[in-house]
Amino acid sequence: MTTTCPHNTLIMRNILDELNRLAPWYTAETWDNVGLILGRSDQKITHILCALEVTPAVVKEARRRRCNLIIVHHPIIFKPLSRIDYAHYPGSLLRELIRHDIHLIAIHTNLDKSLYGTNYALAERIGLHNCTFLSPDTVERKAVKLVVFVPEGHEGKVIEAISSGGGGIIGNYSHCTFRSKGTGTFKPLARATPFIGQKGNLEEVQEYRLESIVPCSRIHQVVREMLEAHPYEETAYDIIPLEETDSSQGLGCIGTLESPVSLSVMASRLKRLLNSKTIKIIGSPDTIIRKIAICTGAADSVISMGQGVSADVFIVGEINHHTAVAASINALNVLVAGHYETEIVGMLHLRKILSENPLIQSAGVRVVTATHQSSPFSRCL
Ligand SMILES: [Zn+2]
Repeated sequence: MTTTCPHNTLIMRNILDELNRLAPWYTAETWDNVGLILGRSDQKITHILCALEVTPAVVKEARRRRCNLIIVHHPIIFKPLSRIDYAHYPGSLLRELIRHDIHLIAIHTNLDKSLYGTNYALAERIGLHNCTFLSPDTVERKAVKLVVFVPEGHEGKVIEAISSGGGGIIGNYSHCTFRSKGTGTFKPLARATPFIGQKGNLEEVQEYRLESIVPCSRIHQVVREMLEAHPYEETAYDIIPLEETDSSQGLGCIGTLESPVSLSVMASRLKRLLNSKTIKIIGSPDTIIRKIAICTGAADSVISMGQGVSADVFIVGEINHHTAVAASINALNVLVAGHYETEIVGMLHLRKILSENPLIQSAGVRVVTATHQSSPFSRCL
């Protein structure tokens, strides 16, 4: 007789992999500290608690709800710690977590930059349409552009050589090149054995500028084969590094409301939707808005580039006084809705995604949101 376990086992590494699919760890800012913050990657996970940050109340709730993993947005450790003082934050909380064998993951700026992240979650809550990233990430492409100058009539052989070396492949297509015609000049010197022309004479030759994409891993092989196929004694060629924008990740987001509203109506709506205690307003309350830029949490850098963004208003978590002064002078409309209030929406969204994840479901692991969490600003008079 065999017995089957009703649930698959879910370990920390599985959760890290699933989160990586939603918001790749490598997209986090270099100053950030994301991923496994406390614990071990082979730990079996019982249940998961999602929160904006670790507080004593959140740790207590994790214990009560039998969660041995807390996923937070804000990392409790940013910089290397020189001491862990049990009497003060963060040492007091780290001690509590370790004492109760509760593990910790931080998903921070990589979540902000994700299509499943804080900015898109807030855009959905507000009801924005046609959303795109405010500033898509620029990523280094794992390929270079190879440009070579080939005398007319030899281009076919060179294209074949580049292709056989592994260049010129785009998706399901091989032999991808572009060529433009021009005039090349050269004068063979005394020790040259020129393919075309005479020593000491300035030559003008009809040549093609031939361009193709080559993966970085193949560039040495491609250049070797290209040089073998090329008729010239000295071949002129360039290898150009490439960058491209990646529209699957980026900073902030921008979208449009179905119907335009005034700035003051939008502020009231936002207060209700986010349960914010206050909404600070920069701009005339009567201004009609439709296109909205969003940056959850701290948004000083986004407001600084504000004039280059064609938005009627910026909805942000917080900005400092000097950024607010500049925004006001530059006639930007801004609604400041609170750091906690704008970002908790993203963690609620993440909880929903994780709770619908088949791997997590099949392991019988519950994903819950901390109910005992709030903005540290408990009252506004
Ligand atoms: Zn934040």
